[in-house]
Amino acid sequence: MTLNLVQAAYIIAAVLFVLSLAGLSKHETARRGNVLGIIGMTVALGATIWLAADRASNPGLTLALIAAAMAVGASIGLWRARVVEMTGMPQLIALLHSFVGIAAVLIGYNAYLAPGPLTGSEETIHLAEVFLGIFIGAVTFTGSVVAALKLSGRINANPLMLPRRHLLNLIALLASAGLLVWFVVSHALVPLLLMTVIALAFGWHLVASIGGGDMPIVVSMLNSYSGWAAAAAGFLLGNDLLIVTGALVGSSGAILSYLMCQGMNRSFISVIAGGFGTEGATFEGDQDYGEHRETSAAEVAELLRTASSVVITPGYGMAVAKAQYPVADLTARLRKQGVDVRFGIHPVAGRLPGHMNVLLAEAKVPYDIVLGMDEINDDLPETDVVLVIGANDTVNPAAVDEPGSPIAGMPVLEVWKARDVVVLKRSMASGYAGVQNPLFFRDNTRMLFGDAKEVVEEVVKLL
Ligand code: NDP
Repeated sequence: MTLNLVQAAYIIAAVLFVLSLAGLSKHETARRGNVLGIIGMTVALGATIWLAADRASNPGLTLALIAAAMAVGASIGLWRARVVEMTGMPQLIALLHSFVGIAAVLIGYNAYLAPGPLTGSEETIHLAEVFLGIFIGAVTFTGSVVAALKLSGRINANPLMLPRRHLLNLIALLASAGLLVWFVVSHALVPLLLMTVIALAFGWHLVASIGGGDMPIVVSMLNSYSGWAAAAAGFLLGNDLLIVTGALVGSSGAILSYLMCQGMNRSFISVIAGGFGTEGATFEGDQDYGEHRETSAAEVAELLRTASSVVITPGYGMAVAKAQYPVADLTARLRKQGVDVRFGIHPVAGRLPGHMNVLLAEAKVPYDIVLGMDEINDDLPETDVVLVIGANDTVNPAAVDEPGSPIAGMPVLEVWKARDVVVLKRSMASGYAGVQNPLFFRDNTRMLFGDAKEVVEEVVKLL
């Protein structure tokens, strides 16, 4: 009876998760998607806890232990969610992925040490599940830790270029396959421990060898890995809902990674293989592009007042400065004066997929003037003024003009084609990919130095 009800609750939760994903795919329905996901997770947790209590020899103790663990986890989670800055979200998410990875490793060892009454082929399948679950979990764990360290700037974002690194990856995979056979035949702990060490090193190396500009794909890829790790844990625990949820996360993360690869013109396989192909870059760096020209808030206000079309291309700097509110003010003011203002959003602007869209929605910029890179690029040659607010790599012409550049081939917002370009940032420093930006030295570009929020507020005041 209990099992039937729990299974029914699992089906309802699974449907809610699918509806939640569908809702999250559009701005307008994202809030509803989130709510459906929360309800689904509440149903799933409630049913699972009920089942656990029903099967326990001492339900009271089981419930008390679960409640204690949840209280600790929920307090830490709520506290982190409250204090995290929007700019700290990418590393927090990477860290959360690492928790899924380590949980899958622990569940794998638990399933090995307390296997239950299995024999024959069932036992073989169980051992293979244990092995694969621990492997995926360990790769996800260290990969996510490296991603979190890179995204928070605690370690260098440049790719780690070990000699013969693809061969090293291949050896790690072949060695793990050999250990799988040894483990299934012998049931011994040694091959499991050896594989865990190899998988931890493999995950670390895989992400460490991916370059700064390709990190967005890594974040969504780790999201996918964490889903597969959860699905593997679902098999070990015999929990259908965990398998379904893990598969949903795994496949949606894989689809997102694929779309981001397309957006950045990178090959999916080469990124999963860990920076495959980066050795082709022959970038010299530090080229002399000439002098840049500075402008003032007053000149920019005048330029905007006389423009008939303006495109704003925000980037990570807008998030750092929390400039979305004055940017929304500026937009409203210009639109009131009859200026056609639109936004051009690069798929990897900021540090999270959809980062800029979230910030602009937060500041209540209307959705219909926020366009994607492909939608706006063709209109840029007819645009009077482009305001680049804290963006750098995503508007870098080197991606188009310099075949040796580390970001060569990545489609960018071709802002230099507009009549006038104003770049708002604090200095001449490079962006996340560490590449100099020739846009700053173009004849039609003016640099407006300062914190994006303060400078935009000043322009709004002058308008
Ligand atoms: P970039 O990271 O290339 O550049 C941001 C610029 O903002 C910097 O050059 C910085 O210049 C400026 N800036 C920083 N703080 C401020 C401030 N307070 N006021 C004004 N300007 C400021 O940004 P983009 O959005 O153009 O590109 C995103 C990059 O991040 C890409 O390389 C992408 O691959 C990578 N990435 C993206 C992820 C995603 O999922 N979207 C995830 C991980 C990486 P200065 O210091 O001179 O002010």
